Amino acid sequence: MSLSLSSRHEWVRKSELRAMSVECERVGGVNLSQGVCDLAVPEPVVRAAKDAIDRGDNSYSRHDGTASLRRALAEKYNRRAGLDVDPESNVVVTAGATGALYCSCLALLEPGDEVILFEPYYSYHESTLLATEAVPVFISTKAPDWSFSLEDLENAVSEKTKAIIVNTPSNPSGKVWTRSELEMIADFCTRHDLFVFTDEIYEHFVFDDLEHISVASLPGMWQRTITMSGLSKTFSITGWRIGYAVCDAKWAKAIGNFSDLIYVCAPTPLQLGAAAGVAQLDDEYFVKLAAKYRRKREILCGALDKVGLTPCVPQGAYYVLADVTSLPGNNSKERAMYLLQQTGVASVPGESFFKGEAGKGLVRFCFAKEDEVIEDACRRLGSIQGKQVRAAG
Ligand code: PLP
Repeated sequence: MSLSLSSRHEWVRKSELRAMSVECERVGGVNLSQGVCDLAVPEPVVRAAKDAIDRGDNSYSRHDGTASLRRALAEKYNRRAGLDVDPESNVVVTAGATGALYCSCLALLEPGDEVILFEPYYSYHESTLLATEAVPVFISTKAPDWSFSLEDLENAVSEKTKAIIVNTPSNPSGKVWTRSELEMIADFCTRHDLFVFTDEIYEHFVFDDLEHISVASLPGMWQRTITMSGLSKTFSITGWRIGYAVCDAKWAKAIGNFSDLIYVCAPTPLQLGAAAGVAQLDDEYFVKLAAKYRRKREILCGALDKVGLTPCVPQGAYYVLADVTSLPGNNSKERAMYLLQQTGVASVPGESFFKGEAGKGLVRFCFAKEDEVIEDACRRLGSIQGKQVRAAG
């Protein structure tokens, strides 16, 4: 017998994101690839986390989270989504929304179960399914509205289907799912007796007076919906690893047991910081947050439009997919690399979000950056126009 990797290691695709970030650092560029927000963490969140550390709140918390965070989250869902969430039995605090999906898949799916996933998708959704031996079945959606039909859903379902993944607002498309689309999903899942794993981590990043609708708030959906979210994006704390699942106690118990096994708990003082933010920051904070990001979207999309990298203007989240077919290259990786080398702006190749060919002509930019960083990126992108003309001439 010789030393070897497990067959499992193949199931987790290497992220293109990291490769772009490494190259971006090498050329001293502006990194708009990874979904990391550079913005300041809200003051009450920082203060409460520091106070917790100073006070000595540094041990394991209950495996499913501190009482203060579970209570704050339950209150938030009850107020905003009209639910009846019990902080004792319906909330599991996890190591990020990433941990919530992983533990939900382990707790609720058998190997070989099929899960419907909409393309373009967030690559961790696909990888988590693969790593837990579930089988993703894709429904393709296209710009500009990324819509789908009942026929698409019915074509994707089989005897083996156990769940569907919803991501509203979506990464990378920025789609904010409409009430009628979610009602269609609700009716479909009820008829076929499916779980809905809904990733709503961008719920506060919704623009143009659109409304975020929590799947669990639709009539009859509580019992089959696992709402997954986290504070990484809302409080700019991607490195703190604070996320959660909210669902019926039947599912929450098993999800919590896996979270206990893998992570023991999310970092206790950081949970206490997040709890202060959830409890103390009012709607005004979230309205201002969305307005701030809407402005960033305008700056970046305006610059992309000007240089002929037509953006698919997002309705929510903080990414924009742009058409890069005017750039040299056979695929989105070559085009993203060309863009990085010519302008110093890093993006993510569109193929990371698609199974089929559609990603070849797209790259994704993240605009969760300070205005100066976005403006610098826009200036750099401006230089591509002249270069393209010169290359053509
Ligand atoms: N879900 C989506 C759709 C994301 O885009 C991301 C990060 O980019 C995450 C989850 C990760 O969330 P967390 O940091 O809470 O694990």
